[in-house]
Amino acid sequence: MREILFASKNEGKVKEVKHILNGINAKILSLNDIGFNDEIHESEYTFEGNAKIKAKIIYDRYKLPTIADDSGIVAMQLGNEPGVCSARYASENATDEQNNIKLIERLSSFPEPHKGKFVCAAVYYFGADFIVAMGEIVGSIIKEPRGTNGFGYDPLFLPDGYDKTTAELPPEIKNKISHRFRAFNQLRKYLLEL
Ligand code: IMP
Repeated sequence: MREILFASKNEGKVKEVKHILNGINAKILSLNDIGFNDEIHESEYTFEGNAKIKAKIIYDRYKLPTIADDSGIVAMQLGNEPGVCSARYASENATDEQNNIKLIERLSSFPEPHKGKFVCAAVYYFGADFIVAMGEIVGSIIKEPRGTNGFGYDPLFLPDGYDKTTAELPPEIKNKISHRFRAFNQLRKYLLEL
């Protein structure tokens, strides 16, 4: 069976993506499976740009078709901050809690609701073109964290049409409406044709 690399070391994400891409005619291997331990510098200003960097670096090293993604949260009132800096918003090695506190602080001078969205770019690269799929989930950023599921900004994010944050929603619900699901589900349609 053909092998496709997924440029991530995050086993939670790897499991989620394998689940979304079910039915494709390929075995998905993570960076842990292939023993890739280098840092990849995400130097672009867009989610798509950073996902492409990751896919190309891994493809160039292993010469196997590669999937990569990049994601984060954007707050409209902050001109789409933190965006590609989501993981390192408060500082280079910030914890999720520190990033959440900074986001709440930055939004505190703006009126509620604080509209925002999670965005995911998923790309597939095989040495020629990049296939790019984008996914978004729109909602509001609240000022008191709620819930313990998920990670990152989930305790602050209330998706439109729901009265629970993505940290309060059961993972199986979040994973059906998430930015990552929407992006990878689109990519799946392409990968099914391989
Ligand atoms: P990456 O795409 O794994 O590099 O994620 C970048 C950062 O965006 C994460 O560290 C989180 O802070 C944030 N993020 C991405 N997706 C989610 C999500 O589904 N929930 C909460 N935070 C997220």
